[in-house]
Amino acid sequence: MLAAGVSLPSSTRVTPMLRQWLAAKAKAKDAILLFRMGDFYELFGDDARLAGEVLDLNVTTRDRDKGEDAMPMAGFPHPAAPSYIARLIGAGFKVAVCDQMEDPALAKGIVKRDVTRVVTPGMVTDDESLDTKSHNFLVGVVDGQKQDVSDIGARRVPPWVGPDQRRFGVCALDVSTGELFCTVVQGERGLVDELARLGPRELVVDERLLPVPPSGADGGDVLAAPATPSFSEDPQGNPSGPDVSLAARLASILPRTAGGQQRLERREGPHSLRLVPGLGAPDAWLQEAPRKPALLAAELCLRYAEETGQGTLPRHLRPPLGYAVDARLLLDSTTRSHLDLCGPSGDLRRHGTLLWHVDRTRTAAGGRRLLRRLLEPSTSLEVIAAGHDRLQVLVDDGALRDTLQDSLSGMSDIDRLVGRAANGRAGPRELARLGRALERLPTLCAGLFGHEAWAQQITPLADAIESCSLVCERLLRAVADDAPIALGDERAFREGYDDDLDALMLLTGNSQAEIAGLEAREREATGIPSLKVRFNNVFGYFIEVTKTHQAKVPAHYTRKQTIANGERFITDELAGLQEKLEGADGRRRRREAELLFDLKELVAVHAAALLKVSAFAADVDATLSLADVAIADRCVRPTLLPAAERSLSLVDVRHPVVARLCAARGETFVPSTVSLSPERQMLIVTGPNMAGKSTMMRQVALAQLLSQAGAFVPAASATLSVCDRIFTRVGADDDTASGRSTFMVEMTETSHILRGATPESLVLLDEIGRGTSTFDGLAIAWAVAEHLHDEVRARTLFATHYHELCSMSGHLDKLHNVHVAVIERGDSIVFVRTLKDGPAGKSFGIQVARLAGLPTMVVARAREVLSHLEGDPDEVATSTSTSTSPHRRSLPKAMVRRITPQMSLFTGAPDTSSELDADDVDADDLRGPSLTPAVQAVLDALRETDVHRLTPLQAMNTLATLVDKARKV
Ligand code: ADP
Repeated sequence: MLAAGVSLPSSTRVTPMLRQWLAAKAKAKDAILLFRMGDFYELFGDDARLAGEVLDLNVTTRDRDKGEDAMPMAGFPHPAAPSYIARLIGAGFKVAVCDQMEDPALAKGIVKRDVTRVVTPGMVTDDESLDTKSHNFLVGVVDGQKQDVSDIGARRVPPWVGPDQRRFGVCALDVSTGELFCTVVQGERGLVDELARLGPRELVVDERLLPVPPSGADGGDVLAAPATPSFSEDPQGNPSGPDVSLAARLASILPRTAGGQQRLERREGPHSLRLVPGLGAPDAWLQEAPRKPALLAAELCLRYAEETGQGTLPRHLRPPLGYAVDARLLLDSTTRSHLDLCGPSGDLRRHGTLLWHVDRTRTAAGGRRLLRRLLEPSTSLEVIAAGHDRLQVLVDDGALRDTLQDSLSGMSDIDRLVGRAANGRAGPRELARLGRALERLPTLCAGLFGHEAWAQQITPLADAIESCSLVCERLLRAVADDAPIALGDERAFREGYDDDLDALMLLTGNSQAEIAGLEAREREATGIPSLKVRFNNVFGYFIEVTKTHQAKVPAHYTRKQTIANGERFITDELAGLQEKLEGADGRRRRREAELLFDLKELVAVHAAALLKVSAFAADVDATLSLADVAIADRCVRPTLLPAAERSLSLVDVRHPVVARLCAARGETFVPSTVSLSPERQMLIVTGPNMAGKSTMMRQVALAQLLSQAGAFVPAASATLSVCDRIFTRVGADDDTASGRSTFMVEMTETSHILRGATPESLVLLDEIGRGTSTFDGLAIAWAVAEHLHDEVRARTLFATHYHELCSMSGHLDKLHNVHVAVIERGDSIVFVRTLKDGPAGKSFGIQVARLAGLPTMVVARAREVLSHLEGDPDEVATSTSTSTSPHRRSLPKAMVRRITPQMSLFTGAPDTSSELDADDVDADDLRGPSLTPAVQAVLDALRETDVHRLTPLQAMNTLATLVDKARKV
């Protein structure tokens, strides 16, 4: 049977081996096939060409004499597989591994081979493909809405279900650690936010969600177009497919490989739950009816995992863990990026991010835990307080911190080692590492057990800790510290661990000694001093005699081979010894394989317990990291109040990252004191550019976030109500990917905030309305501030250059003005960074521009223009410039007129719009454009329509006719 879509060169002879390859290729579908042959993985056909390029392999042909028609092939030694697979995955390919299913030495005929696994970016377990301190998520998404509807009957989704009403089931599976996190999210935006937070390497989406595949999503002809990325774009760079907006949104969160590809797989969505119960019951939250989509998403992921594992599920999977998105402080992706919580995937701990600053974890699992804490702060006072209690213990006890640090430093990644062992992929050295890591856990727990806050967490782990000790004892007793990576010639198990193995080792060791003895005896008997017993893979053991001594070779030596400077012989005694040795060695290898298998089974059986204790260790590590930061940054324990109190009081609060960067430059960071309450709900923050407004606002948000993440706060004192959401709109760039301008992005974000914020939210707005004309912008900023103040009632920090907004304190009683002060020194200003009550006096834009190095001429001219603008506009329009430059011009009259009347809207200056000179106005502007007959016809038809007399059907028809007419205009 030929693999679907594989076309072989016409002259290729289909050997039994090639037939086997074709069968494997059919199973591998769109994946690149690594075909194990002896000690090598071989690639054929287009796989060889493609992989050869990515991996820099030498591509040859199977039949050299067939020229262009020959089958290309390439290969590499099997131990190199993990790093080569990592590179192929990194380049955007899927990889299928076809292994030998029996010992070639024992096989009758051709060795059996089969595809054992398919590796995709979301399904990797080799260290080479994993980032140690971040999760490697495959995320599954199902359409919760459609699920609910199909539950009721086979009806279609009601057309009125808009993007905001849609519900989705989401599951994140980290197959390297065995964790499954499941939730239900509302709205497309909610989905994208949650996916962006999870940072998946690969998405698998219910095909009912994206009804038509994005083009190129399916592998197609493997040899003609092998391993095509699952998500494609049209030539303009837009995601193709009918559901462009959702497809585009999903694509926006997926990382791109070096070749610009992304992995988005469409799969038939599950209708029923089959696999999940086998994993152990999902938690109570997930078992409630409205959470069914979350479990279906888990099912989708598991089916995908089962498919890539060729019908077997990983054995170390933990029961799905449900979480409610709204039980966490909600941080949308814009807020996460504005607050610089972490870098993009692949560079999460980027210099200057909060994660970079606070991550002092000693273990990979601790690093992953800390990241989750920062991205998922709690909204439960109880959970937060318990976290603070545990942190307080570590902050107060230096000796305990030292012990924990010793236990954690250099500890291997238990989660991932358990994953590899439980799935039969760990070698002896990894098991030794796992044993040494588990050995540290009892000390870790013992140190903490004396503290009530920690004991509460340790007590329920008692059984699991016992399992850890059992596994640990066995691993350490079995595997030598310097065990080899894989079984082979080197000794992998300790002496005394297994009697059978020891006996076999003795036998092989004795046989070696016997060979040495034989060599000595033969030398003596023949009188040939250079006689040697040697070994090679073709002949096994033989006696080698140089040409000079040929005459002395005894008659009972049987000649095997002639070489350049001598002859090789065998004797009956040597042949007997060889048989004994080979037999013993074979049995030793088999025994070692059995022992290794048993150890991996032991780990698999206890996987759940080991992972539980490991999760606890990760939490200890994350908390220890926060304790180190709390001490280094002189943080205080915040007092948390119920959300309904809606207050915030921060004394001398600092921005932890900016303060650290300032310190590195030898500068002092100036702390601020900020308070918000139901009476002081909104602060309008003014002050020149670079004064520190945005830093001050971010430090308030970070203090809130850190408090709810269970950390302490860089401040002299902190009392805060729990928040449900933090929103930020700080600066903006064009969103070139979706073709939206700065202003469009800004307005989309602002509208998202106005719709999403509640009275228990914290909102930071910086420079709203900057992307349009001054007066449009000011008007929008004004209206947004009023809406937040009166309707949304969220605590809000609103930084602006529109000083006109300060006057709102006159009519909005919960709005107060603050400013970041500067000192004016002659023509220049000095930033003092202190936050003071009241509005700023001036913008100082020109002074800042001067500090930034704008040419003196430009600065001087700007001053001149400003003084005119602030003075009498008519004078500007007509005045002769004081400059001697021939290019100097007075301001155009029209510009002055444009500014003057509109300014009156906010400043109360007289509205002069009625005083326009007749010659400033085009007569056509007053009359309006003259109408063409076609336009006139549409207008007439509209005027003649009596809306009240139309039936719905007539209304539709009339509208259709009008639209038709209008389109022809
Ligand atoms: P603005 O938003 O007013 O334009 P920023 O908040 O962006 O100003 O601050 C500009 C720079 O000033 C920051 O990058 C930082 O280096 C420095 N800075 C801000 N706040 C402080 C502070 N409180 N103490 C010391 N330096 C600060």
